[in-house]
Amino acid sequence: MDVASEPAALRQAAPEHPGNEHRTGLRVGAEIDLAALRDNVRALRGRAAGAELMAVVKADAYGHGMLPCARAARRAGAAWLGTATPEEALALRVAGDRGRVLCWLWTPGGPWREAIEADVDVSASARWALEEITAAARACGRTARVHLKVDTGLGRNGCQPADWADLVAAARAAEAEGTVRVVGLWSHFACADEPGHPSIAAQLDAFREALAVAERAGLAPEVRHMANSPATLTLPESHFDLVRTGVSVYGLSPSPEVGVPADFGLRPVMTLRARLAVVKRVPAGHGVSYGHHYTTPGETTLALVPAGYADGVPRHASGTGPVLVAGKWRTVAGRVAMDQFVVDLGGDAAEAGDEAVLFGPGDAGEPTVEDWARATGTIGYEIVTRIGARVPRTHLNADT
Ligand SMILES: *Cc1c(COP(=O)(O)O)cnc(C)c1O
Repeated sequence: MDVASEPAALRQAAPEHPGNEHRTGLRVGAEIDLAALRDNVRALRGRAAGAELMAVVKADAYGHGMLPCARAARRAGAAWLGTATPEEALALRVAGDRGRVLCWLWTPGGPWREAIEADVDVSASARWALEEITAAARACGRTARVHLKVDTGLGRNGCQPADWADLVAAARAAEAEGTVRVVGLWSHFACADEPGHPSIAAQLDAFREALAVAERAGLAPEVRHMANSPATLTLPESHFDLVRTGVSVYGLSPSPEVGVPADFGLRPVMTLRARLAVVKRVPAGHGVSYGHHYTTPGETTLALVPAGYADGVPRHASGTGPVLVAGKWRTVAGRVAMDQFVVDLGGDAAEAGDEAVLFGPGDAGEPTVEDWARATGTIGYEIVTRIGARVPRTHLNADT
C-alpha cells in the first residue's frame, strides 16, 4: 500500500462536531507533513551550500515512514540518502530509488553482494569488512563503491588512526585489482550538539590528518564527509563535500544548546494526535492509573487518552508529559500504561472523541517534541523514533 496516497484520515471533518475537524475513527495517529520535510531539506541545503546533502532515513526515517520521506527528500534535492543497515538501503532500491545511497552498519556475513549489485554504497571501518567487500565484488564481477570510515574520537564505529594507513593501503590494492573504488572518506562527531566542545576541533584535526594520509596513498574520493545535523547547522568548516542530516530533516533541533528548530528555518514534520476514549466525572480523592500515583484533588473530570508506551509514549512521561486537550496543556496524571493514560481536565468540559494533541509544530498551542524530550529526560530523536508500529502514519502534502 502506498502510504502517501492514503486519505488524510485524521483531517476529515465531522460536521456534527464543529471545531473538531480531526474527528474520525482513528484512536491515535501521526501526521507527517511532507511539505515541511521538503522545506527543511531546502533550508539545510542552503546552510551547506558548498556541499551535497544526504537525508538520513534510518529507523523508518526516525519514525516518520521511510519511503514517503525518502521520496520527499529526493524531490527537495537530497542527492544522497543514508541508512544504518543494508536492509534499509535495499528497501529503498526495491521501492524504486535510484540515487546515491550509503549504509554504514555492517556485521560479518552481511549482504555485501546484494548491496553491490543494487549500486548501494557500503562502508568499511576494518580490514575484515574490506575483505568481505572484495570477495563479494569478485563473485559478482562488479566494482564496489566503498566509503572508508575513520574514528576521529567518537569511540564507536570507524578505524582507529593507528590502523588507518593499513586500511588505506588495502583499499588502494583493491582499487588496483578493480574490485573496489573508494568513493568516500568519512567520520562522525561525538559532541557536535554541544557547540564549542573541545572534542569538535580535535576531531576535525584528526579527520584532516586521516584525509592527508589517504590522499598521499593515492585515494581520490568523490566525497569527504563528517557533519551530522548539529555540525551542519553550527559548523561550516565541517561540511566538506557532503553533509549527513537526520533529525533536522524532520524539523527537530539536535539539542537545546544548538537552538530551537525555528532558529534555522526548520519546521517539525510530525504531529501526534489521539481521540479521547472516555471523559467522566469522578469524586475527590480518586486514585488514577496503576499504582495510584495521582489522586484527584477535588471532584473533577478525567479524560482517557488511548495511547501508551506500546505506541511510543514514554512511561517516563508518567506525571510529566504535556498534552493539549480542550484548549489547554494538561499533564499526564499518574502512570502511562501500555495502551493509555489519563489527564485531569479540572473543571473544563470535553467529550469522548475530542482531540488530544501530544506534540506538533507548536503553532496551534500544542507541545513540541522538544517539550516531550525535556519532560521525559531524553532527546527529541528518541521521542519520534520510538513511536510504535501500531500508530498509523498519514503522509500529507506528498506532492507539490
Ligand atoms: C544518524 C546518523 C547521522 C544523522 O545524525 P543527525 O544528528 O540526526 O543529523 C549522521 N551520520 C551517522 C553516521 C549517523 O549514524
